[in-house]
Amino acid sequence: MLELSTPVQYVKGVGPRIADVLTAKGVRTVGDLLHYLPFRYEDRLNPRGISELRAGEMASVIGEVRNSGLFRTRSMPIFQLTVGQGRARLRCLWFNATYLQDKFKPGQMIALYGKVEADQRSRELQIIQPQFEILGDSADSGSNGTEKKTAESLEVGRIVPIYEATGKVTTKWLRRIIRTALENLTPDLPDSIPASVRSHMGLISPRAAFWNVHWPEPGESFNDLQSSRTPAHIRMIFDELFFVELGLELKRRQLKAETGIAFQLDDRVRSAIKKILPFHPTAAQKRVLKEIAEDMQKPYPMRRLLQGDVGSGKTIVSFEAAIIAIENGYQVALMAPTEILAQQHYFSARRILENAGYRIVLLTGSLEVDRKREIRRHIAQGNAQLVIGTHALLEEKVEFANPGLVIVDEQHRFGVMQRLRLMKKSGEGRESDAGTAAPGRPAEPDVLVMTATPIPRTLALTLYGDLDLSVLDELPPGRTPIITKQVTDDQSPKVWDFMRKQVAAGHQAYIVYPVIAENEERELKAAIKMYRDLSSQVFGDLKVGLLHGRLDTETKDQVMRMFQKGDLHILVATTVIEVGVDVPNATVMVIEHAERFGLAQLHQLRGRIGRGAAKSYCVLMTGGKVTEEGQRRLQAMVDTNDGFKIAELDLELRGPGEFFGTRQAGMPDFRVANIIRDAQLLEAAKREAAGVLAGPNAEISSEEISRALVEMRSRWQHTYGLVEVG
Ligand code: ADP
Ligand code: MG
Repeated sequence: MLELSTPVQYVKGVGPRIADVLTAKGVRTVGDLLHYLPFRYEDRLNPRGISELRAGEMASVIGEVRNSGLFRTRSMPIFQLTVGQGRARLRCLWFNATYLQDKFKPGQMIALYGKVEADQRSRELQIIQPQFEILGDSADSGSNGTEKKTAESLEVGRIVPIYEATGKVTTKWLRRIIRTALENLTPDLPDSIPASVRSHMGLISPRAAFWNVHWPEPGESFNDLQSSRTPAHIRMIFDELFFVELGLELKRRQLKAETGIAFQLDDRVRSAIKKILPFHPTAAQKRVLKEIAEDMQKPYPMRRLLQGDVGSGKTIVSFEAAIIAIENGYQVALMAPTEILAQQHYFSARRILENAGYRIVLLTGSLEVDRKREIRRHIAQGNAQLVIGTHALLEEKVEFANPGLVIVDEQHRFGVMQRLRLMKKSGEGRESDAGTAAPGRPAEPDVLVMTATPIPRTLALTLYGDLDLSVLDELPPGRTPIITKQVTDDQSPKVWDFMRKQVAAGHQAYIVYPVIAENEERELKAAIKMYRDLSSQVFGDLKVGLLHGRLDTETKDQVMRMFQKGDLHILVATTVIEVGVDVPNATVMVIEHAERFGLAQLHQLRGRIGRGAAKSYCVLMTGGKVTEEGQRRLQAMVDTNDGFKIAELDLELRGPGEFFGTRQAGMPDFRVANIIRDAQLLEAAKREAAGVLAGPNAEISSEEISRALVEMRSRWQHTYGLVEVG
């Protein structure tokens, strides 16, 4: 009998070669194999009659091969296949498909799936490049008569699962292997989800779920199958989400049990905050500060995510929080993803906070060794009150005398695990992650992470499931919407003219390139070369600066400072300026090869302008071919300034995994769940997980809870490779 943990090569029919292919796909065990779900199903119980097909529909057809052949046109060879049912006929075409030449024999039964179209001239129906499967042909498994029969019964006369083929392993192979695995699966599969949760959710057993998700009963709703909403799908999806949420919920609880710092927020602190404010905060800023301040006053550590679109004014909120900590006698660390941003924060912190007498230091990786050592000593002795830096703060094990608050800017650039590794207090070597409160243990600092990635609330709560959430949903007053235009780069003279006028009116401009030097990607314009051309020719009379990641810190620093002060009119740059850079006088953002950038990146880049009262303009210049998806991205940028809408489209175009960079954010790639499609199940899983941890009680026994926790830990470790929880 097979267990879920049995290696996949013990499934009959899986040789070492296939096992290798499967392993490469992440399918190592029987359990993995059973989680390899069909991406769609075909109704071969009631296949469509050819005569009832309509142009424009997706259809699955079973018919007999009548004839086939390759014919050559001027541009390419085309393979044509005619399939018949009685007198009805359907033509199928494949372009450039010489490999199909000897594939079909007249009389074979074949299943087809694809979009039905009417031929432009003859109006006859046809399917272009359908997916196909030759039925009952088990030649590729070297089979005898009985196996041939089984093969046939797996392929016709029922709803058939269609798997994504992987390497040499076809959908047909997968169907047989998975079927064999199911037939030999041990009858007692443990169910670690507590009975009360199962009954709230109406979950079927794991065994029934495995069977039905691969081999649906004849009566199953076809719609539910295609949309992953059958009881079998729901069981598997919920199962996956539940154990992830259980881990997150446990972390949340452990955190609340830890000793934190209960900061005091009295009139003295309040007036210290008031004193530094350079402008009236928006209502959203006030509300968010209140949420943060209340959290900071609590006796357990704060873990809060501050989400706000580019330009919504997160920095000043974080400075206010910093003052609360500093006025209570603690140190604050502010981390930024790039040196440029760290430097900029350093300058504005000095501008805004130094008058109040706060001691601020900057610590970045590229400082000289001696200088770093000196700064570290300041930090360890408690002299530095606000420490601003890059990853260097994490990586170089900086020791704080008295850390009270950690602020992480542009959190989407940092991994969650890095975030947790942050902060070490001098003289100890403890892990900052999970653990229970122990008397006498020093207090954990509060953590505030900030991001401009607008994620729908429920998703944010799951992705950053151990964090509380504050949202800045209002821009500071006086902003006019940015005007965005898309042009091809042969219109650059006009664009340069326009920039010149803006500069003449006293404004500044950015020009962004996808690469630094020309040899990186041949056909792309590069920042260094374009800087040379533009500064010597087109803008010979203006002051032009160059900024990219490979300059040394001092140069970067100098260029940025000159641009900030208005000593440079135009800044030619790479995406180093993508996040955070704040020069309100800049009103033009030209992005060359805009088709090469992702949506989130374009939105971030555009966020560098429109920060002051003057009207701002973003020019998306394309050079070369723009794909259909690329065009959708550019159009979205032209159509809206709303970061939330842009994020939704981005999510749609890229899919959740890539959008969130889930791996780097420390979240698992789900095997069967899709956090967008399954948002409701996700919320249910979160609620049920919280309920379980609130036990034991009349509904749930302590044995059930510990069984669920054991399962959760093993999944977090084995399936997701995440650090241990509790
Ligand atoms: P982000 O949320 O993108 O980090 P910043 O904190 O850089 O945004 O703020 C964007 C710009 O808006 C900055 O120039 C900042 O000084 C300004 N700003 C922030 N809050 C206000 C406010 N309440 N009134 C006017 N200007 C503000
Ligand atoms: Mg910012």
